[in-house]
Amino acid sequence: MLKKITLLLLLSNFCYGQELIYTVDLHSTATHKVGVRVELKKMGATTVTYQMPIWAPGAYSVTHYGHYISDFKAFDKNGKELSVQQANGDRWEISNAKDIANISYSVSDSHKDSTSLYFAMAHIDTNFFFANGTCLFGYVNDKKNIPSTVDYDFPYEWKLATALDPLPSGKHDGTAPPDFKYSGFEAKNYDELADAPIMAGVDSIFQTHSFKDGTATYDIVLATDRKFEMDSLEYYIHKIVHAETEFFHDTPFKHYTFLINAPTYFKSPSMSFGALEHANSSDYLLVNLPWKMFKSQELATFSHEFFHLWNVKRIHSALLGPFDYTKRVMTTSLWLSEGITDYYSRTILTRWNILPYHSFEESVSQLSKAANRSKAAKSETLEQLSIDESDFDLGKATVFYFKGTLVGLLLDIEIRSRTDNKKSLDDVMFALNAEAKKGKTFKDSELIGKMEKITGLDLQDFYKKYIAGTDSLPIDEYLKKMGVGNIETGTQTESRIALGGKLNFESENSTAYVERVDSSTPFASAGIMEGDTLKTLNGKPFTIQEIVDLQNGQPPVTLEIEVIRKGQQKHFSVFVEKRNKTTKPKTAYGPLPDATPLEVAIRHGIVGKDY
Ligand SMILES: [Zn+2]
Repeated sequence: MLKKITLLLLLSNFCYGQELIYTVDLHSTATHKVGVRVELKKMGATTVTYQMPIWAPGAYSVTHYGHYISDFKAFDKNGKELSVQQANGDRWEISNAKDIANISYSVSDSHKDSTSLYFAMAHIDTNFFFANGTCLFGYVNDKKNIPSTVDYDFPYEWKLATALDPLPSGKHDGTAPPDFKYSGFEAKNYDELADAPIMAGVDSIFQTHSFKDGTATYDIVLATDRKFEMDSLEYYIHKIVHAETEFFHDTPFKHYTFLINAPTYFKSPSMSFGALEHANSSDYLLVNLPWKMFKSQELATFSHEFFHLWNVKRIHSALLGPFDYTKRVMTTSLWLSEGITDYYSRTILTRWNILPYHSFEESVSQLSKAANRSKAAKSETLEQLSIDESDFDLGKATVFYFKGTLVGLLLDIEIRSRTDNKKSLDDVMFALNAEAKKGKTFKDSELIGKMEKITGLDLQDFYKKYIAGTDSLPIDEYLKKMGVGNIETGTQTESRIALGGKLNFESENSTAYVERVDSSTPFASAGIMEGDTLKTLNGKPFTIQEIVDLQNGQPPVTLEIEVIRKGQQKHFSVFVEKRNKTTKPKTAYGPLPDATPLEVAIRHGIVGKDY
């Protein structure tokens, strides 16, 4: 017993001796820079290195946070400046550093950087400061397990919120949220420090709410320039956190913070809206829209980031933690971390009655359209797109949030329909969570095999087609297995000018080719033929916009059209006497009346029992 106590004391002394103290000075944010000072204790090495990360967990793209560092200096305990060599864009080496006492540097604003999105960068302005932890902090001598404290030095009339635990000795003015007036925080290791974003600014821009659910407390900190419906926001965020902690029967934190920057549209610092997940917080760049619009657009965003607490923060590939901040991450597993997270972010909303059932049907319809439009979704597999995430390409990165979501839905239906609804993707998530809770990660190549073991199914065919392959997704075929299909919801009458043919545009502003001419229509009567290239309409280029304007015009009209036929320019007058009236059935996804009991049970399992 005595030995154990001695060992514990020694350990705690050792930890104390290695502690790093970071101070961030927020007094000169008008210069779009902040100063960072790192105090080092008893490093004991003759050469000290300081490494900034090249990428941020969750954002994945390689951005090189060292590129935003300037005035890097190091001093010994007598205040003498030490010699510093920059080894590469993100790494510094300090020689003769046996008596090193501190390092200091400036961090510049990077929120308009083209290598990542707003919420992974630093936004430094006169009255506002936001930064992902990776923008501000580096680590010493390649050691990421050193505990640290951070002291934010900010103007008296400012507030600051971050998800780190406040130091017991920090100052606090007693108003919610609890950490709002603290200035000092602690982090167990570098991962925790880098994972805690910070938002600060003048008091007047903040609106805050706090609530408790189960064993945890939640803070919502929102920065904006116009009043926001905080009561409604709290009501729905509370429902979401309740649903997802209930889903996993698990709350992997005591305290969680939602950091939301939501200016009105024209005041937005960036058009890269979205959010980033962290271990006990998430940060957002959204627009302060009227509540009804905000609710329909953004509840799934909160639901998505919160679901990441389990799926990616805990359940993840060995390549996604412990992190190597110096190498680009090359994982094939983001179809699970992003796609399946996004699938649950939507279905949980209907399963827990937070949004009505038709919101699920509407999302499936919108996501299918997006998947059909995306070139990347058709030409690259989800596994390849996952590897591509370390390059910043929005066209590719967004595929996870429509095709990835739909693959999650299809996989859930596949498992449920082949096991008589006895197993589901939920079982996969629960089993993966139980393993991850013990600190286990998986190899990318093991992932589908694990799912097969949990469900007792051979999933190779599904995997090869839709995850490791580019087969188009048979959405309707799968929806049928959950008793959902395209059903008539009424009729739709359209009245517009139609020329009577099919045109092909190579791009939005290119010329049109006539693919088909229908008989007894204005095109046919005027003599326009298949294969003609339409050059001008009433003297203007024949673009998609011109066609849209034309369709809404008032007949009778005569249109002067120039075409190229076999290399020769020809002129036609096309007379349009009246509008074309068409009545079409209106269809939307909905529950099929003739669904089998199994199909209904699968539907209930996925989107909730009320439907
Ligand atoms: Zn995500």
